This record gives sequence, C-alpha cells and structure tokens, in this order.
Amino acid sequence: MPNQEIRSFRRRTLALLNLFWGLSKGADYKTLNLCSLKINQARSLEGILREVGGCLKALLNYKMFAFAVQDEEKLTAWVDPRLSHPALQNILKKDFSRTEALEIRPLRQETEAPGAPVAFEPAELLSYVLLDGACVARLYVLPNRRLFAYHDEILQTLIKTLGVALSHRMTVQRLENAAAVDPLTNCYNRRGLDRQLAHQVANAHRYGQEVSLIIFDLDHFKQVNDRCGHQAGDRVLQEVAATVLSTIRKGDYLARYGGEEFVVILPQTKKSHAMELAERLRSKIEKLVVGLPEGRSLSVTASFGVSAVHGDLDEAGLLREADVMLYKAKAAGRNTVMPGLKLCRTAAGQRETAR
Ligand code: GH3
Ligand code: MG
Ligand code: MG
Repeated sequence: MPNQEIRSFRRRTLALLNLFWGLSKGADYKTLNLCSLKINQARSLEGILREVGGCLKALLNYKMFAFAVQDEEKLTAWVDPRLSHPALQNILKKDFSRTEALEIRPLRQETEAPGAPVAFEPAELLSYVLLDGACVARLYVLPNRRLFAYHDEILQTLIKTLGVALSHRMTVQRLENAAAVDPLTNCYNRRGLDRQLAHQVANAHRYGQEVSLIIFDLDHFKQVNDRCGHQAGDRVLQEVAATVLSTIRKGDYLARYGGEEFVVILPQTKKSHAMELAERLRSKIEKLVVGLPEGRSLSVTASFGVSAVHGDLDEAGLLREADVMLYKAKAAGRNTVMPGLKLCRTAAGQRETAR
C-alpha cells in the first residue's frame, strides 16, 4: 500500500476511534446525569445504593460493588453480587477500626441474577471514602472494563452526589429516630413502635419469619407515685427500661407503649422463646432494687402477655392478643407471664423496704 494510502487509512481509523470515544464519553455523562437525578430522589439508603449500583453497572460493568458504613454501634456492608468474597471482609478489616459487629446485607440489582463469588486482588479494587460526622462510609467497586481518564471525573462526581444524598438521608434518619424515642426511658415511643412493628410483621409475612411480642405493665404503679412521689416513679420507669434493654438482644426493640406499659418486639423469635424471655424479664424486674433519697429503696413487679405472628395476623392483632394475655396475668394475681411456662409468682405488687 502506498504511503499516502496508509496515512489516509490511519487518519480515518483515528477519526472513527475519536468518534466512538466521544460517543461513549457522551453516553457515560448522560448516564451520570440521569443517575444523579435518581439518587437525589431516592427515599431510603437502600434506594440510594441501588441507584448508585445501577449507575456503576452501566459505567463500569462492575464485577463487585460494595458499600460500608460504620456508626457508633456497628459496621454494615451492602454487597452486590449477593455472595461476598472473604477478600472483601479482609479489606473491611483493614479499612475500619471495629469489625466485630459486621453485618453484611445483599444489595441486589433487580435485573441481575445472583453471581458467583468473585476473586480479585486488593489493588484492582477502587475505593472511595465518604465521611459524615460520627459515621465513616466507604464505597468499593471492581470495574470490568477499561477505564479512560474521564471516568475518574465521572466517578468523583458520582461520589460527591452520593455523599450529599447520604448526608441528607442521615439527617432525616436522625430526626426520625429522635421523634421515635421516649425522652424519659430512652427506648422507642409509640411512634417508633408502630413503625418497627409494621416493618417486622410485614417481613414475617413476606419471608415466613417468626416474630413474637411481649407486652408488660408495672403492677400497682399508681401506689408507687402515691407513696413515693412522681419522681421516684420516673426513676423506676428508667431503671426498668434499662434492665430490659440490657437483657434483650441487639436486634430486639423495646418501646414504651404508654405510662407504665412497655412492648418488646422480638424478630425471628418463636413464641416459646419469647415466653422464656418474658419470664427472665419478670424475674429481673422483681429483683430490681431502685434506690431512693434518704436511704430508702423500692421494688416493683410487672405482669406480662406474650403473642406471636400466625396465619395472616396483622400488627394490631398481635398487640391485641398480647394485651388479652396481659389482662389474664393481671387477673391471675400479677407478677406473672401469660401464657406461662410455669407460674412462679411471689407476693404481687411492689414492696417498699427500708435499708
Ligand atoms: P395495675 O397493676 O392494674 O396495672 O395497676 P396500676 O396502678 O399500675 O395501673 P393504673 O392504670 O391504675 O395506674 C397507672 C399509673 O402509672 C398511674 C400514673 O400515675 C402512672 N404513670 C403513668 N405514666 C407515668 C410517668 O411517666 N411517670 C410516673 N411517675 N408515673 C406514671
Ligand atoms: Mg400498671
Ligand atoms: Mg397500665
């Protein structure tokens, strides 16, 4: 081929490559713009992550995408594909200070079948840090295509959009949590209870999981206020809540249902185990000695009702069944669990003792 023809062929090939490169760059920026819009419209953390995952899939055709957040309590990692590789756990161990309370959640793209575990070298993994006050968040992605220089700019923009959306979501979450907490006892209030109960009962029906519920009410509590004053009564409520919180599991929920009545939601717990727990709580509350000024102290007892999801029972039905049991426990003389594994009641009602 003469030199002139070779040059012309090169020119045309380069022009074609440039055209292709320009088109794919334009398409990637269009993807980014669309995703940014969807990220900002997402109403939950999972929703935000699904959009980010979709965007990264379109841009990088990733082999693995993971997002991890560490707050004061635990480290949570959302991973796609569903099966996480032990290498990811090693990376989390390296990047986060505390991994003992690690919870891995699947993050599934609706269009994707679950993938097999992917093996990768840590150096192949792109990692981005997002900070938000007491929370540390990191995003990991394992690309499955050749990256051009402009991809870095696109990824930086995507990370910034994600950071803003996350920060906004966390503020909303903090406000929602504050509105769902009882200021006296620090456990959930009625609003928090309703939210959690709806969520747990829906999960129970959707995934066939067991959910139990305990409702308990302090016995003759009016007399505590009458004899020792309202402040002493408040103190008792705080100490009872603290005792219960220290006994139940991290995934259980304690809520103040009203005055001196509390509810414990027990996800993935069968009724017999809930009855055993109620018995343990009953015994702990009975043994609790609340110190009062001038060397006095006070003890209380509580009556318990237990129920569990069955058939198509909804949250109102679950509460109603536990309430019926609580009523029976009161009628049976108080300081009792109904239905009970065994009736081991001591003298009902509170005892005031001098130290
Ligand atoms: P029972 O064994 O039948 O449950 O008797 P009880 O006295 O506990 O029940 P009752 O419903 O007659 O009284 C409940 C009392 O709880 C009345 C109210 O003064 C007290 N109480 C409700 N909320 C609070 C609170 O926030 N602080 C204090 N100190 N007392 C409260
Ligand atoms: Mg009471
Ligand atoms: Mg009551």
